[in-house]
Amino acid sequence: MKLDLNLSQFPTTSVGSFPKPDYLADARRKFYKKEISREELLELEEKATREFIKMQERVGLDVLVDGEAERGDMATFFAERLDGFEISEPVRSYGNRYYKKPRIVSEIEFREPMTLHFFKLAQNLTSKPVKGMLTGPYTMMDWSFNEHYSSREEVVHAFAKVLREEAIELQKAGCKIIQIDEPALSVRSDEIELAAEGLKMVVEGLEMYSITHICYGAFEHLAPKIHLLPVDQIDLEFAGRDFELLEQLRGHEFPQDVGLGVFDVHTHKITPQKEIEKNLEKALEFFRPEQIWVDPDCGLKTRTLEESEEGLKEMVEATKVFRTKFEK
Ligand SMILES: [Zn+2]
Repeated sequence: MKLDLNLSQFPTTSVGSFPKPDYLADARRKFYKKEISREELLELEEKATREFIKMQERVGLDVLVDGEAERGDMATFFAERLDGFEISEPVRSYGNRYYKKPRIVSEIEFREPMTLHFFKLAQNLTSKPVKGMLTGPYTMMDWSFNEHYSSREEVVHAFAKVLREEAIELQKAGCKIIQIDEPALSVRSDEIELAAEGLKMVVEGLEMYSITHICYGAFEHLAPKIHLLPVDQIDLEFAGRDFELLEQLRGHEFPQDVGLGVFDVHTHKITPQKEIEKNLEKALEFFRPEQIWVDPDCGLKTRTLEESEEGLKEMVEATKVFRTKFEK
């Protein structure tokens, strides 16, 4: 639902995750080895969240995130906090990365708020809006083993139901912008209708501006159907593929706002302000100015904290210059 969010033109934000500071990565390892308590870990996650907010304020972003200090894998995090799951031993995702895949073994049920604590903590530290961040029902389905439900549709519906409960909790806590990530959709354009149904079940009737982030995949198949996603904004990677996505979108409807990824997050090189200004110009070949939000291509958790801050700073400065071209 489009709200009057009272933001600058071309609002700047980040996609969600920030790199874990060393002390937090250490603490998580110690926690898994049972060397420190849950409370000790929580204290350090809160400390990291406070630092993330300070960093985003320094940079001057318009819409903030809590930075996901408490999250590891984006699907397992939710599965561990819902009823109906057992968590598998680590499975290989790609290369040498492993994650614990959730197994659905009974009815998925909402137990208690999953993201509310860190949302509230972050929102209390800033006067700027903080985004609520969820992993979408389609991605939760695709990244879980299903040993209980009889179809993929049923699983998506079950996830949508509990994620809606979480969204309502966030709304009650004053959250005005909710981002529901669907990275799994990037390679499953044949199921975009199912993903759309799930997103609709989560956000329908809520008084929040809704975003979905999709990582780059086989976009030529997704582009013709992107208009089906019932959210206010689609957030996409543009910079990493040198804006070839604009070509793939050409001729297709794109009624939502766009979260325009203006710098690549898979490199140590900082994208300079001038280059980001050019990237913003390119977007105008396809999008109307009112549609455009500005952010990095993806979450920053694989970068260093210094790289994240520097990259975002260049982005904010580029956006300030870009805005002046539209002043009346
Ligand atoms: Zn991404």
